[in-house]
Amino acid sequence: MNEYDSNRIYDLTSIIGYNKTHVKKEADCFVLNTCHIRKKATEKVYDEIGRVKKDLKKPLVVVSGCVAQAESKEMIKREPYIDMVIGPQSYHKIGDLILDYERKKEKINETEFDVVGKFDELEKISNSQSKISSYLTIQEGCDKFCHFCVVPYTRGPEYSRPFKQIIDEAQNLVSNGAREIILLGQNVNAYNYNKKYRLSSLIRTLSNIKNLKRIRFTTSHPKDMTEDLIDCYRDCETLMPFLHLPIQSGSNKILKLMNRKHDREYYMSVVEKLNKINKNIKISSDFIVGYPGETEKDFKNTMELVEKVGFVNSYSFIFSPRPGTPAATKKLNNLTESKIRLKKLQNTLENFQHKSNKKYLQQHCEVLIENKLDNQEKYFGRTRYMTPVIFEADNCKIGDLANVKITSFNQKNLFGIYETNKVKAA
Ligand code: SF4
Repeated sequence: MNEYDSNRIYDLTSIIGYNKTHVKKEADCFVLNTCHIRKKATEKVYDEIGRVKKDLKKPLVVVSGCVAQAESKEMIKREPYIDMVIGPQSYHKIGDLILDYERKKEKINETEFDVVGKFDELEKISNSQSKISSYLTIQEGCDKFCHFCVVPYTRGPEYSRPFKQIIDEAQNLVSNGAREIILLGQNVNAYNYNKKYRLSSLIRTLSNIKNLKRIRFTTSHPKDMTEDLIDCYRDCETLMPFLHLPIQSGSNKILKLMNRKHDREYYMSVVEKLNKINKNIKISSDFIVGYPGETEKDFKNTMELVEKVGFVNSYSFIFSPRPGTPAATKKLNNLTESKIRLKKLQNTLENFQHKSNKKYLQQHCEVLIENKLDNQEKYFGRTRYMTPVIFEADNCKIGDLANVKITSFNQKNLFGIYETNKVKAA
């Protein structure tokens, strides 16, 4: 989502004459768009500002995003080099705020939750993104309040953008060259506009856009995997059969402590429904290891679930507390034990990934061509399951769906040779 927001921030600043520079030293304004999900996010911001201090003449320094929202006043106090902090729901005001700063030279702290105003404002400015695979935010915020997560505090309550606004932006992206759209939301499948339009309505309407070849969405909550959405995996050919569906733990005790609002059985019932409706579907997930209170038995439950589902492309981390969340006050687990568990889990997840990649060997697969590698007769694209593919080709067209024969692979990538544009899905 930060990539989407950063592009929109650029669209907004270019209106007041601030254009992108690739020469860092020339920058008059430096915007650091931050994310609070990863560990030590705040310290990374100060480190980056330290680098700016060394490299640049004093530019106007703006910190935006979720760290700005969470730390606001303290940031300006701690680092006088920062001139402005802007929360993720206020960045539509960045143009006016910069002009204000230029006039008054007074520090600015803008961290209101004005999400409706933000999207109304963004609607007036066309999205200049022109990537083959483009992001499109449809929903923001979250009402789930998982005990480990900062999102409900930094992005605010769930908000769904107006249906038509999204379709118009999608059409604009496709006319800019996008051939894949990734619908974004912190809780994307909670999308519900006016109690009439849901994520399934969006997917079905977007499926009719000419030249849009692929649709994906992320990140989903298991509780919001409703029947109408699952049905899209049967009916909509452009919806890719790959779903990122975080579970975090395979233990019901831990899921309850996390306040996840679903249990293991419910999660498995969603997986079964998906597999039943589309036998090609693959699922990836997120896991937190060593959550406060996790025992060896709880961890075994997670490992069993992983074996059962056979996840691909998953993310796993050791629990780390986020200030202000309920889990941050809990007693931490033994770190050495957590590291051993994480290693075990990651080995198993990597094995699944390896097996999944191996299956492609000597097979043809459908690849959406995203770009040509610099100074090489090689192209980059992705399979229907997001796996990166690097392939040789004399001549092929960016944005096309190619038929690529896979000749080798490693843990993360597939390598192959372009055959034709005639597609055989794999
Ligand atoms: S559902 Fe996702 S975004 Fe919402 S609180 Fe839980 S982890 Fe955070």
